[in-house]
Amino acid sequence: MTGSEPTIAIIGAGPAGCTLACLLAMRGVKTVVFDNDKRPALLVGESLIPSVIPVLRKLGIEDRVRELSVYKPGASFFHGSGLQLHFSFRDRGKKIPGYAYNVPRPAFDKLLRERATELGVQFIGSQASLLKSDHPAREIKLSPDSLALAGLSAHPEWLIDGTGRARVFARTLDLPTQQGKRKDAAYFAHYENFVHDEVDPGQVIISVLKNGWSWRIPLQDKLSVGIVIDKGAAKKLGDTAEQRLEAAIASEPLLREKGKNARRVSDVMSYTNYQLISEKGHGKGWIMLGDAFGFVDPMLSPGLFMALESASLLDNLFFSKKKPDPSDLDLYCAKLRSWHKSWQELIEYFYDGRILRMYEAGSKLAEGKNAFNPAKLMERHMSRVIASMAGGFGTCSNYNRKLLHYSSKHLIWDVKEAGFYAVQ
Ligand SMILES: Cc1cc2nc3c(=O)[nH]c(=O)nc-3n(C[C@H](O)[C@H](O)[C@H](O)COP(=O)(O)OP(=O)(O)OC[C@H]3O[C@@H](n4cnc5c(N)ncnc54)[C@H](O)[C@@H]3O)c2cc1C
Repeated sequence: MTGSEPTIAIIGAGPAGCTLACLLAMRGVKTVVFDNDKRPALLVGESLIPSVIPVLRKLGIEDRVRELSVYKPGASFFHGSGLQLHFSFRDRGKKIPGYAYNVPRPAFDKLLRERATELGVQFIGSQASLLKSDHPAREIKLSPDSLALAGLSAHPEWLIDGTGRARVFARTLDLPTQQGKRKDAAYFAHYENFVHDEVDPGQVIISVLKNGWSWRIPLQDKLSVGIVIDKGAAKKLGDTAEQRLEAAIASEPLLREKGKNARRVSDVMSYTNYQLISEKGHGKGWIMLGDAFGFVDPMLSPGLFMALESASLLDNLFFSKKKPDPSDLDLYCAKLRSWHKSWQELIEYFYDGRILRMYEAGSKLAEGKNAFNPAKLMERHMSRVIASMAGGFGTCSNYNRKLLHYSSKHLIWDVKEAGFYAVQ
C-alpha cells in the first residue's frame, strides 16, 4: 500500500459513517467512504436528544444544524386518560446542553456529508461489495471491483460497517443478532395543518394510543407524524402503509381531532423489524458502528445519538492511539452494549407504563401549596433524573437506574396498575 492511500474504508455514509470519517479526518487519518445512495426521500430519525450536541460541536456544525432545525426543549407524553407528562431538558447545569433539535433527516445527513467533504474525506458513490476472506488479518474483504472503484492498490487495514439496517457485515459473515421482544411496525409521513398542542414550542409529543403509540415532531414547515403499532394490529387497519397510517389517525382519540384538517405532504414510509443488536461488534479487520451494530427502539429517539456516539467512542478508544490495539475494541463493544442495555431498560419503563404511573402518583402526592412539601421536592428530583436519562447524559448512571427502579416500585400510592398506562 502506498503511504498516501487510506488504510480505513467505511461502508455507508449515514450519520455514523460520516461522523467517523470527519473525526478521523480531523486527526489527519485518511478514509474512503462508500455509499450506495439508496436513501429514501424521507427518513426516520428527526428528533435528536441533548447528548448529540457535544458531538455536533466537535464536528463544528452545530450552527448549521440549528439553521435547518427546530429547537427542541423537551418531550411530552400524553395518555388517553388525560394525563400529561412534560419533560424539559433545561436546567441541566452548565456543561450539559439543555436542548436538542428536530432535524429534517435528509438535510441533516447531507450536512454531515458536506462537512466530511470539507475535511477532505473521499467518497465513492457506489455500493461496496463484501466477501468472506480467509486472510489471517481479515475475515471480510472488499471485492476486487470495489477496490478498483476506490482506486486502492492494496486492501485497507480496517473495514468499518456503517451500513445501518442493511447490516452488510453481519449478513456477509452470518453473525447472530439479538432481537427485541416488540414486534411493531412504524408508519410515518409529513403533514401540514396537523395540530401540535405545543406545550412549549418545539416540544416533541408522544401519545399512548389505544393501539401502540405515536410521535409528533415539529419541523420548520411541517409536522412529522408517526405511529408505532403491533404488526398484527397494523394489518387490521388496511392493506397499504397509507391506509394504515391514515386509519390510525382517524380512529385514535388523541389524534383524530388534531389531524382533521391536515394535509399529507409526503409519501408514507414504513419500518419493521428494527430492534436488532449484533452479538459481535468487531472481528479481524472489521468493526461495526451505529445501527449496523444495533438499534434499540424509536421510543425516546436514541438512534442518531447512538450513531454519532459509536463513531466518537471508536475514534477515542481506538483510532486515537498511535498504535491502535485490537484488544481496545472489546472495550468499545462493551461500552456500546452498556448503552444499548441502559436504553432498553429505560424505554421499557415507558412501554410498560411505570413512568406514567410513577409520575401520576408523584403529582398527586405533591399537590398542595406547601413549598417545602418533601413529595414535591422528590417529584421535581425524579423529573430531572428522568429528563437527564432521556437526554442521554444520565442514561447509564447506576444511581439514576437504581433510583428509578426503587421509585417505580415503592413511591406509588393511589394510582392504577402500570398496565393501565402501558403501550398496548
Ligand atoms: C421508526 C423509527 C423511528 C426513528 N426515529 C428516530 C428519531 O426520532 N431520532 C433518532 O435519533 N433516531 C431515530 N431512529 C433511528 C435512526 O433513524 C437511526 O438510528 C440512524 O439512521 C442510524 O444511522 P446509521 O448511520 O447507523 O445508519 P443509516 O442512517 O441507515 O445509514 C446507512 C448508510 O449506509 C448506506 N449503505 C447500506 N449498504 C451499503 C453498501 N453495501 N454499500 C454502500 N453503502 C451502503 C445506506 O445507503 C445509508 O446511506 C428511528 C428509527 C426507526 C426505525
